[in-house]
Amino acid sequence: MAYQSINPYTRRVMETFETITDRELIKMLNTAELAFDKWSQTRFSEKANLLNNAAALLEKEKAKHAEIITSEMGKPIRQSIAEVEKCAWLCRYYAEHGENYLKPVTIDSTARESQVWFEPSGIIFAVMPWNFPYWQVFRFLVPNLVAGNTGLLKHASNVPRCGIAIEDLIHRSGAPDGVFMNLFIDYSQVESIIGHHAVCGVTLTGSNNAGYKIAELSGRHGKKSVLELGGSDPYIVFESADLEKSSETAIMARFQNNGQSCIAAKKFYIQDTVYDQFLELFKAEVLKIKIGDPMNPDTLLGPIAREDLLIELEEQLKLIRKSGGKIITGGKRISPDSLILEPAIIIDLPKDSRVMNQELFGPIIPVFKFQSEDEAIQLSNDTPYGLAASVWTTVTEQARRVASRLQTGMVTINGMVKSEPSLPFGGVKTSGYGRELSEFGIREFMNIKSVSFN
Ligand code: NAP
Repeated sequence: MAYQSINPYTRRVMETFETITDRELIKMLNTAELAFDKWSQTRFSEKANLLNNAAALLEKEKAKHAEIITSEMGKPIRQSIAEVEKCAWLCRYYAEHGENYLKPVTIDSTARESQVWFEPSGIIFAVMPWNFPYWQVFRFLVPNLVAGNTGLLKHASNVPRCGIAIEDLIHRSGAPDGVFMNLFIDYSQVESIIGHHAVCGVTLTGSNNAGYKIAELSGRHGKKSVLELGGSDPYIVFESADLEKSSETAIMARFQNNGQSCIAAKKFYIQDTVYDQFLELFKAEVLKIKIGDPMNPDTLLGPIAREDLLIELEEQLKLIRKSGGKIITGGKRISPDSLILEPAIIIDLPKDSRVMNQELFGPIIPVFKFQSEDEAIQLSNDTPYGLAASVWTTVTEQARRVASRLQTGMVTINGMVKSEPSLPFGGVKTSGYGRELSEFGIREFMNIKSVSFN
């Protein structure tokens, strides 16, 4: 299997990379093992230096990195720049707070004194997606480097230049050889990595199919896994909400990253008393979206990252039509050979349509009416997924009540769902398990050791 850089806007094949041989893989695993032995003993100040250097390089070279992202997966260039800046923020955040998160904690026990220590545990193998090709890698890597673990990456096969550029940047920031390596491997080589004695954990961000496969292999080898999978997040607007703000914010909440974000709002639930007004405002905003070349700084919506993914969305649109949903805007490619799908607002989709249990990973948004708070919660929870939710209401008590009853890992009130370094990130139900980021994420792959003195 080859890794290929194909520009989804121009459809031009830019570069192809061959996968490594099994012999090369064994050599790289040996290098990684030696690197872990040293890195796990490295002082925090050295790790913080590396992260501050990485942040400085990302900021200085953001135009170059953003161009790599946009040319490989089609994200509008301004959003690619924002992604690179966010990686720099993450590096600085852990350089500042990481040490505190790893301080021993004293606990009452039957012993004279008991402490909990946080220790590195080994190499973390990451299987990552193309949709935030820098952020997803930094999100796993930065906390693990601070924890004293090291990283191996199998990036998505359509973003090989991103993998190479990140490896190079981490190396230039001062990481010793083998502390972080990008591997061009095929699926058959994944198990030999997971089974290697120095690899202690596996983290996958991606689809449920891939996640379950990787979790199965991790289980077979007794390795811990973290899964960050799909989402079908509700965007719930109650009648007290600021309708202008909620309809404006809905544009980025749904269409950011050309609609391909795990935490995008993927179903809108609007209270019946304000449904018509919201829909009118939202439709007007959708019709203003600038569609086209993702390298143009004014573009808000560019191409879907790969043709097979667009074909899947077109099949879902067929299913939506067949089950009675009405497409009131867009829903077609801008031209037959383009991968840009015009944003589609769907109304009247029956709640038992098969597509309701699927993730809509593109610029498609079904809008539904609800009458009561109970109904909004019941509809929002009626999905196999449980990643995040956005709730719009000006009634504080209602916001708290609804947030506590939603079966998701994250809830944002009066705003779009976003990730940030200080907040734990992750889902429940089929959206996965484990957490990344924050004080909680850094400990996922650590040895949390109880030490008692009598
Ligand atoms: P994907 O097709 O599952 O790919 C993700 C990664 O898994 C890629 O590196 C892919 O490699 C690899 N992979 C797939 N099948 C594999 C197998 N059998 N063995 C080993 N590796 C395998 O997902 P995607 O299309 O890149 O990403 C979109 C999905 O990710 C969406 O469902 C989205 O919601 C989810 N996502 C979740 C989060 C979150 O934090 N929860 C964040 C972003 C995205 P190849 O490219 O070589 O196939």
